[in-house]
Amino acid sequence: MHPDVQKLLKVQKVDQSIAKIRRDIDSIPKERARRESALGAVKGEHVAVASALQQAEVSQRNNEVSLKQSDEEIKKLDGRLNTVKNNAEYQATLLQIESVKRERARLEEEGLSLLEQIETLKGTVAERAEKLAAEQAVFDEFEQKAQALIVERQQQVDVVAVGRETLLADIPKDLVSKYERLFGARDSLAVCAVEGQTCTGCYTSIPPNLQVKLQASSAVVQCDACQRILYYAE
Ligand SMILES: [Zn+2]
Repeated sequence: MHPDVQKLLKVQKVDQSIAKIRRDIDSIPKERARRESALGAVKGEHVAVASALQQAEVSQRNNEVSLKQSDEEIKKLDGRLNTVKNNAEYQATLLQIESVKRERARLEEEGLSLLEQIETLKGTVAERAEKLAAEQAVFDEFEQKAQALIVERQQQVDVVAVGRETLLADIPKDLVSKYERLFGARDSLAVCAVEGQTCTGCYTSIPPNLQVKLQASSAVVQCDACQRILYYAE
């Protein structure tokens, strides 16, 4: 076997162990993103209903101010009735009073409806806040467990990876990057055996000229079909 391939085979053993250890934390970022987006939706619901409540409360305060203004207006017009100089003016003022009273009745109705709305919204806000707190707690727990698992797995990886760097330092850099690319792209199997005349990575036959090269161990040989780095099972 070519000496560089022999070293790569050792590196691959380490890398396969690392990949196995990391398997259950590889899905964490995707799972976190999914949970984050679900939590964001619950937050959005809470914000929307809280802002609706705020708006209703502002409208209700404005309504109270308008009612007060109507009352003052009516009082003022009532006072004018005593000072008008003729019947026409008297009738006109009465009409004005009627008009303001009608507006006041409308405002009063609107105010009652706003108070009802506010009561309902307060209930919904409380509900959504409770739901949000519960969802946030679930998310926080997930995050805590995920972090603990990542730390635990990293410690295990550190143990397994001892010596990996030293092995790598001994192998030509371009071969290392070729290996790393293949390891990622070929399902954690970048270096594989030839059994009989077949690549055990993709089960394609190895042509005679490559077989000769492999036998001689004089060069690093890759499978024509899957590009994996080959060696003869000894
Ligand atoms: Zn192959």
